[in-house]
Amino acid sequence: MTRIVIVGAGAAGLAAAEELRRSRFDGTITLVGEEQYVPYDRPPLSKQALEDSWDNARLRLRADADLAALDADFRPGRRAVAADAAQRTVTVDGGEELSYDGLVIATGVVPVPLPGVDSSTLRGLDDASRLRSRLQPGAHVVIIGAGFLGTELAAAAVKRGCRVTLLDRGGSLLARLGEPVSRHVASLHAAQGVEVRSGVRVTHADASGAALADGTWLPADVVIGCVGSVAATAWLEGSGVPVDNGVLCAADCSAAPGVVAAGDVARWFNPAYGSLMRVEHRTNATQQGAHAARTLLANLDGGHGIAFVSVPYAWSHQFDTRIQIHGLTVQGADTEVVAGAEADGSFILAHRVQDRLVGIIGVNAPMREVRRWQQLVHAEAALAAASGVAPPVSLVR
Ligand SMILES: Cc1cc2nc3c(=O)[nH]c(=O)nc-3n(C[C@H](O)[C@H](O)[C@H](O)COP(=O)(O)OP(=O)(O)OC[C@H]3O[C@@H](n4cnc5c(N)ncnc54)[C@H](O)[C@@H]3O)c2cc1C
Repeated sequence: MTRIVIVGAGAAGLAAAEELRRSRFDGTITLVGEEQYVPYDRPPLSKQALEDSWDNARLRLRADADLAALDADFRPGRRAVAADAAQRTVTVDGGEELSYDGLVIATGVVPVPLPGVDSSTLRGLDDASRLRSRLQPGAHVVIIGAGFLGTELAAAAVKRGCRVTLLDRGGSLLARLGEPVSRHVASLHAAQGVEVRSGVRVTHADASGAALADGTWLPADVVIGCVGSVAATAWLEGSGVPVDNGVLCAADCSAAPGVVAAGDVARWFNPAYGSLMRVEHRTNATQQGAHAARTLLANLDGGHGIAFVSVPYAWSHQFDTRIQIHGLTVQGADTEVVAGAEADGSFILAHRVQDRLVGIIGVNAPMREVRRWQQLVHAEAALAAASGVAPPVSLVR
């Protein structure tokens, strides 16, 4: 009997398992997930899941019946600690060795720890439950890092009646998205009473506050580090699976014979942009999980998969503002408001690299307009993938 082991029971791992069954794979699927939970959704964790009325059951990606229909050997609460690509084995904590014919790596990312900061960061359901109980009205919350996670958390904390200080070493919030978006998000936070301190360096932080490089000490009731994440690949050390800022994959998501990777952990060659990329967005995890599963089945039949040509999509909700991103946002790209107006708080910003449209950002923009520009981004990406002439994104990244 053929066995496929999937390590990581998040969105990408689940999508891979489902695609295997949809493709009539009738061997054993072993799904190893370090967390105690059935596969759940992460985007609400920094948004609605921090509200008192929230019920964690809403995070579930599938009902029990759908999971049972997968007929998978699901191992929640088990962590893969090693792999051997030559022997085709995965070792889980406790020492059990799982042999496989095919392996899907879908272990996501882990937050970058901030020296001195206590366990307060936000990646999983347990973190969100802990934070929900600590974000009490009147509490002073210091958030270190003003990317998507930091700004979303600031908005959620304000909504819960907290006083929020948002620290970032960069000059502006979400700088990568381009100035008009950055300005809009900054004014949004300022209007809601968030104290934004840009261009500051935190030298030390602990549960009682944060120290800045200029000597300032910011006392706090809650300190949360949101300074980015790294691919969860430590367990692959010495495995023979290539790792370099993620599991290094070919265009079809294959990483080694009988091994594919998907989701936040995968760094693959995306023909749409002619470069290696790792995408930490929810939609990509599902699409790539399914794609990697198809590649794996082709591998097991002695063939190759096809390239995963992907135009990343991401979104964010902060206060009443909806941000949608299609394609790439590139720091240093030429940006132009192509629909709506920044002054009205509803607009679309295009990112171009050497006259080629690589991405758009909709800020409270009408769906109809976003779709129109989304199609142009997709058309440009399809052309690049088909012609093999991608926009020179790597030149400015
Ligand atoms: C708070 C938060 C908010 C977000 N908001 C948005 C948003 O608004 N929009 C958006 O597009 N994206 C958002 N994202 C990103 C999105 O959730 C991720 O891109 C997506 O969850 C990636 O799915 P994945 O399956 O690749 O990884 P994950 O969901 O991280 O799943 C990986 C799983 O593998 C497990 N694992 C790791 N190592 C091992 C091991 N050695 N053995 C066994 N299991 C292991 C992990 O515990 C985890 O359960 C957000 C993420 C977070 C954390």
